[in-house]
Amino acid sequence: MTKRLPNTRGYYGPFGGRFAPETLMAVLSQLEKQYAAIKKDKAFRKELEFYLKEYAGRPTRLYLAKGLSAHLKKLKVYLKREDLLHTGAHKINNTLGQILVARRMGKTRIIAETGAGQHGVATATCAALFGLKCVVYMGSEDVQRQSLNVLRMKLMGATVIPVESGSKTLKDAMNEAVRDWVTNVADTFYIIGSVAGFHPYPAMVRDFQSVIGREARRQFLALNKRLPDYLLACVGGGSNAMGLFHPFYADASVKMIGVEAAGHGVHTQQHAATLNLGTTGVLHGSKSKLLQNSDGQVQVAHSIAAGLDYPGVGPEHAYYQASGRAQYVTVTDVDAIEGLKLLSRLEGIIPAMETAHAIAYLPRLARRVKKTATVIVCLSGRGDKDMNQISQLI
Ligand SMILES: *Cc1c(COP(=O)(O)O)cnc(C)c1O
Repeated sequence: MTKRLPNTRGYYGPFGGRFAPETLMAVLSQLEKQYAAIKKDKAFRKELEFYLKEYAGRPTRLYLAKGLSAHLKKLKVYLKREDLLHTGAHKINNTLGQILVARRMGKTRIIAETGAGQHGVATATCAALFGLKCVVYMGSEDVQRQSLNVLRMKLMGATVIPVESGSKTLKDAMNEAVRDWVTNVADTFYIIGSVAGFHPYPAMVRDFQSVIGREARRQFLALNKRLPDYLLACVGGGSNAMGLFHPFYADASVKMIGVEAAGHGVHTQQHAATLNLGTTGVLHGSKSKLLQNSDGQVQVAHSIAAGLDYPGVGPEHAYYQASGRAQYVTVTDVDAIEGLKLLSRLEGIIPAMETAHAIAYLPRLARRVKKTATVIVCLSGRGDKDMNQISQLI
């Protein structure tokens, strides 16, 4: 039987919770209460459904990849096409959901923090759609590396604030966003981009991304009159994977595999394999696995995919791993490029560098299965954003 997770204090087994400055505690419990009421409201669900369909382009297709399946021989691969959504990835499922919650709560100003810039773009998009003020915090290092995403955000009317403190990356941008929120909480809503952060964010983001798995489950059943053998998705913070996995949680026969970035290799210091190599600790407001040294200092993560380059991971994934419900494997930078080429050549679909990690695991999965098996891969995003980087690599 499935337990209802998280519990009332935001825990998934030993993971999760709410580790926040005192000044935020009241704000977070107010958000928790209001979100619990809003998510049950029929008018809210209708409104979200409307924008997911008419603006973002849902439902996305579940596409049988015949060329790839023929190549792999023992796997029949279905692609859940989140890459076809407006803005080119799954992130808009969540930003649309949260901005509608913000509107219900009467907030007029949106803040976010972003590393690679993809969440910043998805947030700026929704803020423009609803005419809300939008401020995005971004490490100054990232502002330089991701200049095209900065341009996108600015075009859509967002203010991008480069953060000069600390390592000038995501971690520092997050601290600034929290500082802003504490100061401006009366009119401001903070949109977090993955299934991480203080309770109730991991559950809220999961709820909004679960549309992926709900659709995929229904679509697969309609096509095959049975459930898939495997689910496969890349894991950065874990939102596209959790979105696919969660609606299948109680289907014990469906095996779930999350793919982490091994960067230059799990034996080097340059990777983002948090669940495989991390230890338990607190990062960004919740307890989960994270990459840290023996003094508890957070390590810098590395991946060829900017969206996987995160030293933490959502607490629900840490719980799925510890309880054995899901398995988490790793794929290196070099193998991810092969994955990208494979899908491009065999299907005419260029995946995002993040997604390419999931694709790259398919040949290994094909070697594992005894007889022909079915798998749904979350095609979390398209590769357009990565073409500059790829032109330098190939
Ligand atoms: C941001 C991003 C990811 C990683 O984030 P998750 O929260 O782990 O889903 C994966 N794929 C794409 C295309 C992204 O933009």
